[in-house]
Amino acid sequence: MQNIDTYDFTGKKAIVRVDFNVPLNENFEITDDTRIRAAMPTLKKVLAGGGSLIIMSHLGRPKKVDPKFSLKHIQAHVSECLGVPVKFADDCQKAQEQVAALKPGEALLLENLRFYAEEEGKPRGLAEDATDEEKKAAKAVVKESQKEFVKTLASYADCYINDAFGTAHRAHGSTALIAKYFPEDKMFGYLMEGEIKAIDNVLKNAQRPFTAIIGGSKVSSKLAVLENLLDKVDNLIIGGGMGYTFIKAQGGRIGDSLHEDDLMPNALEILAKAKEKGVNVYLSVQTLIADAFSADANTQIVPSNEIPDGWEGVDAGPKSLARWKDVIMNSKTILWNGPVGVFEIDKFAQGTLEIAKDLAEATEKGAYTLVGGGDSVAAVTKMGFAKKVSYVSTGGGAMLEALEGKDLPGIAAIRG
Ligand code: AMP
Repeated sequence: MQNIDTYDFTGKKAIVRVDFNVPLNENFEITDDTRIRAAMPTLKKVLAGGGSLIIMSHLGRPKKVDPKFSLKHIQAHVSECLGVPVKFADDCQKAQEQVAALKPGEALLLENLRFYAEEEGKPRGLAEDATDEEKKAAKAVVKESQKEFVKTLASYADCYINDAFGTAHRAHGSTALIAKYFPEDKMFGYLMEGEIKAIDNVLKNAQRPFTAIIGGSKVSSKLAVLENLLDKVDNLIIGGGMGYTFIKAQGGRIGDSLHEDDLMPNALEILAKAKEKGVNVYLSVQTLIADAFSADANTQIVPSNEIPDGWEGVDAGPKSLARWKDVIMNSKTILWNGPVGVFEIDKFAQGTLEIAKDLAEATEKGAYTLVGGGDSVAAVTKMGFAKKVSYVSTGGGAMLEALEGKDLPGIAAIRG
């Protein structure tokens, strides 16, 4: 494995996997270019080092060639950000001539990799009533043609850079399989390096006390994260919708709050394990409840284990927030994943806003703070705190899997 800072790009063609899966409006205009801007340091480094660029990405979830998901929509914006005109290859498997013509300092963007089933290595167009045998056979076929697909992409370049953290948890052609063609010339881009360092800062080298704040809607989607963190953290704050499963499991009344009855045993097990390992768990003690899931609902503040029927918990109450703030301010490492209320509705966003503020304050005091995973990232960004924490991850699913302790295929392929 190479290091992007020391690698000599002079006269080399670099194929770079980025995550340009940006949101587009109905006129195919980019509504948030964060992911494009996040890849720029890596792309610019190659050009400044005397190399040329072959940029590859997916966009959306097309199941066939579909102009709606063409990366052509973003070509002009990528050119603008990069500061050089970026050429476009209409077919990622037929770019040989354009690649051959690339000169140092030039860049070529390949059409959406997922126009080919081979990128994901999953069969498409299977009949709904396909038997297991048929599914297996179709998978074998696509896995076989995937080898050629990947080989073609690899044939374009002298070196491979993976800077797509957002898809690092997928073992796809361009995110993992391609790396083997570049045993001496593969490396992480700057965005990947930043994400890996952030993960290591919390999972491997955390300064203590280490506090994780886990919120969001469901215990089921965070169970593996909670279990992995129990071995690492000193304090675990559990908020948001998922907290009510824990409160109900302990015998509390949660009214109509979101919960998962089938996961109550798991919740109790987590609490028991935490006790065994000396991890302090801080559930919500006070809740803002509403009589409807809407902005004009009636609200009141009650103890989290005394929520009347007909009402549901929608945000953390002031007593919970004060208690959590105390824990946060006394921590040296803080990881936050998942909002502590229904932050999409302003009236129920106060708790999540307070957590964002607490994290900003703790960062200023010298703590290391990482915000990772879809909705908490949206929350800090919406609330204007993205620059006031130590690191905001760009990868939702990838970050979650990293926090579960999994080895991400996109990272392992470069290291291996
Ligand atoms: P997740 O994707 O699991 O991180 O969950 C994020 C979602 O959890 C957001 O859409 C929030 O609105 C939702 N959420 C947080 N707290 C609650 C709550 N008390 N009741 C219902 N949904 C919630």
